[in-house]
Amino acid sequence: MPYGRQSISIEDIDAVVDVLRSPFLTQGPVVPAFEQAISTEVGSEFAVAANSATSALHIACIALGLGPGDYLWTSPITFVASANCGCYCGAKVDFVDIDPSTGLMNIQDLELKLQKAEKLGRLPKVVIPVHLAGASCDMRAIGQLARRYRFAVIEDASHAIGGKYQGRPVGSCVHSDICVFSFHPVKIITSGEGGLASTNDPKLAQYMYELRSHGITKDLNRFERIAPGPWSYEQQHLGFNYRMTDISAALGLSQLKRLHEILAERHRLYQRYLKILADLPIRLLQISEEVYSSLHLAIIRLDDPSPKHHRQVFEGLRGCGIGVQLHYSPVHLHPFYRRLGFQEGDFPEAEAYARNALSLPLYPGLQESDLQRVADSLKLVLQA
Ligand SMILES: *Cc1c(COP(=O)(O)O)cnc(C)c1O
Repeated sequence: MPYGRQSISIEDIDAVVDVLRSPFLTQGPVVPAFEQAISTEVGSEFAVAANSATSALHIACIALGLGPGDYLWTSPITFVASANCGCYCGAKVDFVDIDPSTGLMNIQDLELKLQKAEKLGRLPKVVIPVHLAGASCDMRAIGQLARRYRFAVIEDASHAIGGKYQGRPVGSCVHSDICVFSFHPVKIITSGEGGLASTNDPKLAQYMYELRSHGITKDLNRFERIAPGPWSYEQQHLGFNYRMTDISAALGLSQLKRLHEILAERHRLYQRYLKILADLPIRLLQISEEVYSSLHLAIIRLDDPSPKHHRQVFEGLRGCGIGVQLHYSPVHLHPFYRRLGFQEGDFPEAEAYARNALSLPLYPGLQESDLQRVADSLKLVLQA
């Protein structure tokens, strides 16, 4: 039993096969159709598909002007890609500690760090809040700080497609500039590999469309030179080949049709967990009442915070065939980030989290008996 797993239907397979039989495997009609469908789903003006969320984060940072000498801040409890995108741009990366109850970026810590940074003249250009496990951060508060301290906001919503904040879909960018989703197989819906950036800003969207394809434009109206002929294109920026294929987009589009079904099933399973784990010495991450989580992960924290206990519970559950995982080992403590100067003690709540958190299996297709086995095994190893 892994901690997460994709669910592929006959319709998904047919949709992919249809593309394989069509004239376009890539740069055909399906990527724009997928972008349109996501745009409609999340309520954004624009959607820019890419070959991964990592690529989407990278071009989002470039579009927002992040470069050498700038700062990017994110949460230490995230996948490394949320921070790496800053390094790709030559910017300096820093972190804001988490709120231990939710696992999300701590807004008070963010505000204090901004006050200090302002005095030092080191305010961030971009802040990336991460919607850990599918629960949106407090985006209204972050948006207010963004206006006051003039930084741009990219939501890392890799876990959070289908989620809501204050009744609005994650991705509608009411309090952010850009929102990024991942369609890696372990996420809520998949396109094999894939990602997408939503935004309401036409300039950011245009720039990201170009950056994902070498920085090239084919639109004659946008040419800087006089076009030598209708056969030409112009490279205006240094871009990449970060395009999504039509094969991927067909899978993503087909999966998107089941998004609400998938979320309902995740919620049903999660409610069962709440019930059958209620008496154990553990806590699930808290979810704010303003948030509808897409419940990408079922993260628990052990009441006993000793590292030995954490390891034993981990190994015990793995021994029972239950593929628990830690989401995440704090980014600042990876060797690459330590070499940039980060060390133990820099972000105490994130480090404490990593000593007692673990993700239980949660994905459509789990049976009642599977959940019961997780609960029984957990009870057993917690007593050991
Ligand atoms: C999965 C993930 C990413 C990267 O997604 P890819 O599509 O695999 O590049 C980025 N941030 C977070 C929080 C993720 O979980």
